Amino acid sequence: MMKKIAYVNPNLCDRSPGCPAIKVCPSQALSHKRAGMFSYDATMADPEKCTGCAKCLNNCPGGAIKMIPANKVQVR
Ligand code: SF4
Repeated sequence: MMKKIAYVNPNLCDRSPGCPAIKVCPSQALSHKRAGMFSYDATMADPEKCTGCAKCLNNCPGGAIKMIPANKVQVR
């Protein structure tokens, strides 16, 4: 079966500076870039680092993360 990995929908991400999904990921696969003094871009998942454990799913308040087949991931 095709491996599934995390995908963050940037339109649903609340861009919180304290993104709880980033904190819970055991593989440091999630990150967000600083966009200004107090703001961040949407969280992104690194398909190379994501193991598909799905721990992040229930730690996104906006429900922005879903698991999708690894071959469907487009690097933004
Ligand atoms: S599925 Fe697991 S490894 Fe992948 S981003 Fe979510 S918490 Fe990290």
